[in-house]
Amino acid sequence: MSKIAIFPGSFDPITIGHESIVLRALSLFDKIIIAVGHNETKKAFFPLAGRLSMIRDVFAGNAKIEVMHYEDLTVSLCQRVGAKYILRGLRTSADFEYERAIAQVNKAMYDDIESVFILTLPEHTSINSSIVREILHYGGNAGKFLPDSIDPKKYL
Ligand code: ADP
Repeated sequence: MSKIAIFPGSFDPITIGHESIVLRALSLFDKIIIAVGHNETKKAFFPLAGRLSMIRDVFAGNAKIEVMHYEDLTVSLCQRVGAKYILRGLRTSADFEYERAIAQVNKAMYDDIESVFILTLPEHTSINSSIVREILHYGGNAGKFLPDSIDPKKYL
């Protein structure tokens, strides 16, 4: 049976921190589905279509990676696509506490699911999408924090 993992998140936008987690997790799974959570009531900086195409461009040509969006619970998406694993990245102890609660609730809802955590590389610990959004909002250059060859203006 193929091992499918969901990597859920807002990815507003995808950063080199996210990219690194996906690439490092590739050897663990047959397929990783990067699932962009979409909530009509939550205003994102990058439109959904832009976030999806940015991620598709980052992983273009990698047959083990799929990109989709979803509007319901992560565990419901897992059941729909036959994924048994939820992949998340951990940067800090605050991430751990937040992720622990979500993972335990997900497990309570859907016992077949296992959450798998990968520790961020030390150099990616301080990178997050909201800092990147802030830089872009004020017209700064966020290139250092974005995957290679991504021009964020193209996706706005
Ligand atoms: P969410 O809104 O669900 O937190 P994000 O897009 O911010 O979505 O993050 C998705 C996942 O990527 C989370 O597990 C988060 O901890 C992880 N992540 C975010 N930034 C980094 C980073 N710099 N290094 C490693 N993991 C990260």
